[in-house]
Amino acid sequence: MKIAVLALQGAFYEHERILRELGADCFELRKKEDLREAFAGLILPGGESTAQGKLLRELDLYTPLFNRIKAGLPVLATCAGLILLAERASNDRRSCFGTLPVTVRRNAYGRQLGSFRTMQDFGDMKDIPMTFIRAPYIESVRDDVEILAKVDGNIVGVRYKNQLAISFHPELDSDRRIHKMFLGMTLTQGIHRQKVSRPPCAYSPALPPHLP
Ligand code: GLN
Repeated sequence: MKIAVLALQGAFYEHERILRELGADCFELRKKEDLREAFAGLILPGGESTAQGKLLRELDLYTPLFNRIKAGLPVLATCAGLILLAERASNDRRSCFGTLPVTVRRNAYGRQLGSFRTMQDFGDMKDIPMTFIRAPYIESVRDDVEILAKVDGNIVGVRYKNQLAISFHPELDSDRRIHKMFLGMTLTQGIHRQKVSRPPCAYSPALPPHLP
């Protein structure tokens, strides 16, 4: 089964390269017709969240993707992708999918000097390299959101049901563990669905031009 990589703007190609390297088939999701292809997971890449949100609506991709995410499609969202999933942003009134019950702060590290690299644990995984580029961080989460990583006390990685959302850019580093974790989620999707459907009982990396 394939992974769809949203390819409207931003750092989508880097994710595709890693997926292929890990032996996962993928395709670029650019228009409504691309949704005819079956896919087991979705990557929302970094880039510029306002531009991506606008294109999602203009290209009629917003509603079908919203419905699939709500229905349990596994999603890996990086940086701008995290902003698209977040229920709200504390410094921006617009929200996009709003399927992730967190509040983000856009450009939380400042616009110009906001790019840096560090190494932190991520859930059970030790020493994950983290490259931040004009990144958001998560200011608050609902109780049922699992916090996976913090940098300087700020939340930079969370998991909520089928959604894995992070502030940084794993596709710009050589460590593949986060992509592997996401691919693992796509394999256990059926199990996850079964469960939820039960009745209630520091250096500055060069800035790629497409990452505002
Ligand atoms: N600053 C961008 C935004 O707010 C996100 C940057 C990124 O994805 N690297 O949309």
